Amino acid sequence: MNSLTSFESRFVIDEINLYITVIAGDHTISFANKQLLNFSGVHFENINHLPYWELPWWQNGMANQNQLMFAVERAFFGETVRFDATYTKYDNTLHEIDFLLKPLYKRDEIVSVIAMGYNISDLVKTQKALTRRERQLDAFFEFSSDGYFFFLLDQPIEITRTDDAFIHELMSHQKLTFFNQQFEKILNQELSHQTVIETLFPNVKDLSVFWRDMILNGKAQFDTTIQLEETYYDEEALNTFILDEPYDCLYIRVTLVAIFDDQGAFEGNYAVVRERTQEVRNIKRLEFLANKDPLTKINNRRSFYEKAVEKIEVCQNDQMDTSVVMIDIDFFKRINDTFGHDAGDTVLYHFATLIESFVGERGIVARYGGEEFVLLLMCPFDEAKTFMEALRIKISEMIVRHDDDQITLTASIGIRGNTRQTDNIDTLTAEADKALYYAKNHGRNRVAVYADLPEEAKHER
Ligand code: GH3
Ligand code: MG
Ligand code: MG
Repeated sequence: MNSLTSFESRFVIDEINLYITVIAGDHTISFANKQLLNFSGVHFENINHLPYWELPWWQNGMANQNQLMFAVERAFFGETVRFDATYTKYDNTLHEIDFLLKPLYKRDEIVSVIAMGYNISDLVKTQKALTRRERQLDAFFEFSSDGYFFFLLDQPIEITRTDDAFIHELMSHQKLTFFNQQFEKILNQELSHQTVIETLFPNVKDLSVFWRDMILNGKAQFDTTIQLEETYYDEEALNTFILDEPYDCLYIRVTLVAIFDDQGAFEGNYAVVRERTQEVRNIKRLEFLANKDPLTKINNRRSFYEKAVEKIEVCQNDQMDTSVVMIDIDFFKRINDTFGHDAGDTVLYHFATLIESFVGERGIVARYGGEEFVLLLMCPFDEAKTFMEALRIKISEMIVRHDDDQITLTASIGIRGNTRQTDNIDTLTAEADKALYYAKNHGRNRVAVYADLPEEAKHER
C-alpha cells in the first residue's frame, strides 16, 4: 500500500526526534537541525561558531561530557562512533539518546564531524503509536465483515486518455498487493498476489467499463454473483411459502475507489467487497410480497395495474393492439364443496400456472381475486380472440390431481379489445368483465367479446 506507507513515513519523520549537528574542524558548531534546537531551547544564532563543549546540551549531558568529547575526537581521527547516553532536555525531562558520529571528508581530509542523536525514548512512544495504528488497520481489514483488496501499479501513471486499449493496459499492470481474509472467504478461493482481475470476478461481462468509471469519477460500483458448489434451501422461506426458491450463488457488491498520488497520477485502487445474499433475498421477498399472489405465485391485482398501464402506453406508441381479458372458473364453488378447500387451492395453483405458461411473453397474467384472473394481451385483436379460444379448450382438457381425485374444470372468458381508442385500464377491465358476465349467462365455458355484445348487455351489471 504505497499511500499508507508514505503516510506512515511522514508520520515517523514528524514524530521522531532525530538530532543533527555538524562540528567544524576548529571544533565550533556549524550546523544544528531544528529538532536539536527545540530540544535545547536555543536559536541557532546563539550557538553558531560556539565551541561544542560550550553548548547547552553539552552542559546538560550529566556524566556523559567526557564520553561525548572522546567520541568527537575519535571521529576527527576517522572513526565512526556509536553510543547511548542520557541527556536532559531544556524542560528538565530525561531522554535516552542513541549517538552516531562520523567524520566528514573533503577529498582525503577530515574537515568536520557530524553527530546524529536518535531519541530512543521517543522511538518507544512512536513504536507504540505505530503498533496501535497497525492494530486499528488489522481490525479494519481483518475483522471487517467486508472484503478488501488493493490493486497497485509498480509506478504511478498519469492518466492522459481513457480509451479501451489504455484501460486494458492499466488493468494488466495492476497487482493484487493486499487482500484481507474476508475477501478470500467471500470468493471461496485462495488468492495469490498474482491473481489477475478477470479471474476474481468471472461473472462480470466487461470489468474495464467499471475501471474506466472509477478512473473518471474516483469510484465505481458493480454487482455480481459467485457460484456456490451446493444449492441452499432457505427454511424460513419454505415454511412461509414466500419466495421458497433455493439459491446456489452469493450476491456481492464491489465498490472500487481510485488512489491518486499528490501529483494526481493514478497509483491503483482499493475495493470494498460486500456479500449481500441475505439482503438481496430479503429485497426479493419484499418484492414478492408486494407484487405476487402467495397461493398461485403469479402477479397480484396491484402489480397487474402497474405493469398493464405501462405496457399499454408502450403498445400505443408502437401502434400495437392490446386486449384486456377476464377469466373466471365455472362452478368453482362445487369444486370446493366436492373435493375440499385444499383441492380448490391446488386447482387455483395449477390453473394459474397453466394460463401463465400458455400466455408467456404475449401478455401479463394476474390473479384478480378468488377464482378470477385478468390478462393483458399484446397482439392484434383477431389473434387475441383465437388465442383465448385455444386457452378455453386447453383449460377444459386439464386434469388436476389432488390426493386420489382427478379434477376437471372449465372457465368463461371475456375480452375487451383495445385498438388504440382508449387507454383507461379501469374502463377496459370493467368492459372485459361485462363480456365475461355475458359468457357466464350464455352457457359458460365460452369466450365473449365486448364489441360483439348486444347493446343492452354492454350496459348491464
Ligand atoms: P360461477 O361459474 O358463476 O363463477 O360459479 P362459481 O362457483 O365459480 O362462483 P362463486 O363466485 O359463486 O364462487 C367462487 C368461490 O370461490 C367461492 C369461494 O369460496 C371460492 N374461493 C375464492 N377464493 C378461494 C381460494 O383462495 N381458495 C379456494 N379453495 N376457494 C376460493
Ligand atoms: Mg366462478
Ligand atoms: Mg367469480
